Amino acid sequence: MYNIAVIPGDGIGEEVVKATTTVLDKLDVEFNYTHAIAGDKCKEETGVPLPDETIQIAKESDAVLFGAAGETAADVIVRLRHELSTFVNLRPVKSLQPEKYGNIDFMIVRENTEDLYIGDEEETPEGAIARKKITKAASDKICEYAFKYAKDTGRKKVTAVHKANVLKISDGLFKKCFYETAEKYPEIESNDFYVDATAMYLITNPLDFEVIVTSNLYGDILSDEGAGLVGGLGMIPSANIGDENGLFEPVHGSAPDIAGQGIANPVATILSACMMLDYLGESESARRIEDIIVEVIQEGKIVTPDLGGTASTQEMAEYIASKI
Ligand code: ATP
Repeated sequence: MYNIAVIPGDGIGEEVVKATTTVLDKLDVEFNYTHAIAGDKCKEETGVPLPDETIQIAKESDAVLFGAAGETAADVIVRLRHELSTFVNLRPVKSLQPEKYGNIDFMIVRENTEDLYIGDEEETPEGAIARKKITKAASDKICEYAFKYAKDTGRKKVTAVHKANVLKISDGLFKKCFYETAEKYPEIESNDFYVDATAMYLITNPLDFEVIVTSNLYGDILSDEGAGLVGGLGMIPSANIGDENGLFEPVHGSAPDIAGQGIANPVATILSACMMLDYLGESESARRIEDIIVEVIQEGKIVTPDLGGTASTQEMAEYIASKI
């Protein structure tokens, strides 16, 4: 039995997390859910966006399933990643509809603890300054993770993404750490691109990418671009992994424009739960659900509007669950 902290959060977060537990409940795996609150609504109700009790529940769990936070995202999910010391954010960009989007399949390995996300901003007489933090330790760790991931999963190439021509010292350090790590993995091809060029290559040559390793902000932006390549934000899951904790969440946010309508695509969150199952050592169940999702999308009968159907979030989840 696994103790799972469930933090639905705001907007569509609540809908997609409910859909996901509907699917998980059909497995032959036992989960003990502890629900915890965080986000905009939590701040309105309790005065704080991320209560200490929620952090405690997350830390004590075997894994955390997270939905989305709205305006308070920086104080909720960025802080939670920090509190749980999840140093890597894995964002697989994989096409589940090859006939429509081609065989796109690459992994974004995003550094999860520093960069501009340290939130060190201040007002100045002229305007404002934000500091970007890049350390050797975190850069070495994330590059090592990326190469090891490539090796373990049979990928042949790792691409570093940075802007070292402008940010010579900070991104320059990241690039240096990348090539030092690459030397330890001679069997894996390594190359690097500037982030602006990468934004274009992802559109023109998406099949050239296998594993991208990059800093926090570029990883965030490129994963939304990646979502656009394979059917939208409703399709991309993510895993935040640390030495002691794992937190699993869709790449999308609270999507206030569609919240409450029951039309959000639950696939991103269900696939995040599959990453959670892998993390817990329940890979057979993870593959089973993934296969069913592909089947359901191929059928195209009971899918949400972003996938061309008319089903609600919960109807699609129940259909997926019924096939387990
Ligand atoms: P937030 O401020 O919480 O990040 P946002 O609207 O800025 O919210 P996202 O939640 O990432 O950003 O959503 C961006 C757009 O993608 C939304 O307009 C929404 O319509 C669409 N979208 C996001 N997630 C889904 C989903 N699961 N299913 C369908 N559409 C989605």
